[in-house]
Amino acid sequence: MKDYDVIVIGSGIGGLVSAGILASSGLKTLVMEKHVAPGGYLSSFTRKGFTFDSAVDCISGVAPGQLLHRVLEMLGVQSDLRFLRVDPIRVSIFPDFEIAVDADMDTYKERLISLFRAEASSVRSFFDRACNTYSQLQSALNAIISGSFDLDAITAEALHLMGRSYKELLDDYFIDSRLKAVLSDRCPFIGLPPSKVSAVTMINMIMSYFELGAYRPEGGFQKLADVFVKGIRNKGGEAIFGDGVKHILLDRNNLCAGIKSDKGEEYTARHIVSNADFDLTFRALLGGKYAQLADEMMRRPGPSTSFFITYAGIEGSVGRHSSMGWYTSYDMESFFDAAMEFQGDSTIGITIASVEDNTRAPSGFSTMVLHEMATAAGAGADKAACTDKSIQKAERIFPGIKDRIVILDSASPSTLHRYTGNCKGAAFGWRRIPGFGGPKRHGIKNLYIAGHWGDMGGGVLAAAYSGAKAASEILFREGIRSVI
Ligand SMILES: Cc1cc2nc3c(=O)[nH]c(=O)nc-3n(C[C@H](O)[C@H](O)[C@H](O)COP(=O)(O)OP(=O)(O)OC[C@H]3O[C@@H](n4cnc5c(N)ncnc54)[C@H](O)[C@@H]3O)c2cc1C
Repeated sequence: MKDYDVIVIGSGIGGLVSAGILASSGLKTLVMEKHVAPGGYLSSFTRKGFTFDSAVDCISGVAPGQLLHRVLEMLGVQSDLRFLRVDPIRVSIFPDFEIAVDADMDTYKERLISLFRAEASSVRSFFDRACNTYSQLQSALNAIISGSFDLDAITAEALHLMGRSYKELLDDYFIDSRLKAVLSDRCPFIGLPPSKVSAVTMINMIMSYFELGAYRPEGGFQKLADVFVKGIRNKGGEAIFGDGVKHILLDRNNLCAGIKSDKGEEYTARHIVSNADFDLTFRALLGGKYAQLADEMMRRPGPSTSFFITYAGIEGSVGRHSSMGWYTSYDMESFFDAAMEFQGDSTIGITIASVEDNTRAPSGFSTMVLHEMATAAGAGADKAACTDKSIQKAERIFPGIKDRIVILDSASPSTLHRYTGNCKGAAFGWRRIPGFGGPKRHGIKNLYIAGHWGDMGGGVLAAAYSGAKAASEILFREGIRSVI
């Protein structure tokens, strides 16, 4: 039986960041991944010369000095990747106008002011507050991952916003419902409507793209995961693919002793990091009394939405922008109603990565990925019919596109669940409702949660921060100074 300092269950970004910091800090680290390739939601696949990202549109945190770049530097692999900047971050198509979300926040503010002159001063004060709150959150996050665990850095202002919905915040500032809809255009990035998502979660997500930029790795997100694994191995860490964790083994003191794998192997370790789905970790890998914790969390806050994703290879080019959202009305709440799913008027997100990245498709062709929110109800839906409905919407946005499709594939919430283990294909971990600060304590001192089921939020950067936090806690216990 092999013994490690740390076993990391899962190689999503949270697991990779954790393992990357731990291996480069000298701890004997093993990553166990049930899938044959690393990355979880970072995975990409190639069909007939077209490379599609399975899930992710774009991420932040990869520019020099930012978290993901810092960990890649620790691993000595930062120059193995090229990141392509996405600017505008998004183009949102509304019934009366299209609006670009410029990478530069001041340009975006001026764009909003030119469209909504009567609310110019409110636009300015809203963004002042968003900047202020975001910088407080960033200081707190950096303190936490550098090991100082200084929760006092989170001010009363940020705590206040944690308890409020984004809709309440927008209502404090604005009158025009169209302006409120424009500022809610990225609610699908969290999977909740303005009235149900916490204000702090939305501000953090919106501001992180302005402050840190929006990027995609050239060649697809799989490259980011692969480069992490290369760096972890270079630093003496080990990674096993195609053999998942079946059980977490506990000793008589209720501490993790190791794991048993699907193939029946046993490995021991002083610390276990779970990057796997929360429900799976506590109901299946631990079981017994821990299933109750999973039950409680599944009831409230519950898992975030999933997506139905359509991947299309297109002959010719498809517009000038690589990230778009399409909204048939200004009633943002209605798009999150399960009854609306796959109806002609539901919202859709579009990623055309080949706009910035000519490695994604053969010369003269483009890639197009359509994201449609889908809850558990969507999971049982007919895949071919759902693909067809998404393509019909693309046809309304880009007339004639249907006849230019040369490759077509799709993934339902069940597909996402099958590949990553995320329950019901949840895209962002927990629902980030007002007042929710993270999962309840489980009481196992050497078990850490890393990824979007932890307490840092959903999305790639938040999952990465959660992985860094788990690593930092382990280093603290081992008496090793964290250098992240
Ligand atoms: C359609 C879609 C679009 C998205 N778009 C964006 C976006 O544009 N920007 C953004 O920032 N975020 C986006 N997200 C969210 C983001 O992808 C996730 O929040 C983030 O990637 C989650 O990372 P994670 O580390 O928590 O783990 P995951 O990516 O969920 O990976 C978990 C890993 O654990 C492994 N695993 C599970 N069980 C076991 C086991 N028993 N043993 C071993 N291994 C196991 C899985 O195989 C998987 O590799 C999107 C998500 C979806 C679905």
